[in-house]
Amino acid sequence: MPESVSTDLGKELRNEVLSKYDIDDYKTEKINLFTKELNFEKDVKVYVIKSRQFNAFATPGKYIFVYSGVFDKLNSYEELASLLSHEYTHIDKNHGLRSVGRSFGYEIFTSVFFSDDLKEQIFDNSNMLINLEYSRAFEKEADLNTIKLLQKENIDLNGMLSLLKIMREIEPRRISNSELSDHPNTIERIEYIEDEIEITNNNSTINYELETIFSEIKNSKYKTFYNNVYSS
Ligand SMILES: [Zn+2]
Repeated sequence: MPESVSTDLGKELRNEVLSKYDIDDYKTEKINLFTKELNFEKDVKVYVIKSRQFNAFATPGKYIFVYSGVFDKLNSYEELASLLSHEYTHIDKNHGLRSVGRSFGYEIFTSVFFSDDLKEQIFDNSNMLINLEYSRAFEKEADLNTIKLLQKENIDLNGMLSLLKIMREIEPRRISNSELSDHPNTIERIEYIEDEIEITNNNSTINYELETIFSEIKNSKYKTFYNNVYSS
């Protein structure tokens, strides 16, 4: 699939998200500085959405959206680095379009012909891309690649485990169990990450730059509150 397709779709989706949600400008500025320090190969842009929810998602092309409620729960820069690396991998491996394409019955990522019709069809289903639950295989690929990305920057891999443990605590009890759904549950993810960390060299050093930016975001609660009160 031509790169320009995911770039175009990504931009359109980004504009749609920006028209629906309030963006926290201060946190957005800081989280982009944070992301730069992670030295991802591809250029990505991150937005912080004002919301008490704990959620994050990526759209094709280069955009990551993180809800500000995430910062009420995270305790370390290693956890934030893990979350961003995971979402980055969904972008890097084009998981979004590959998932949507599959549900349309197309193998679009290998397709030479990417018609305007198909593009329109995917865009009409943009909610699908935003509320996407990735398959087991894609989630695992994102998790395992996160380990590599953290390792490259000497970031403690245990941040990934504590991120998942936070998610497990706050996630609603799912009625469907993981055998019925193709989406892996958090306990399953914790298990394979624990196994992987055990056999991986976890040489970490403290990154003061990341630590500083993380605490600036974390401690900017009042700014967010002020914005919320007066902009609504
Ligand atoms: Zn994911």
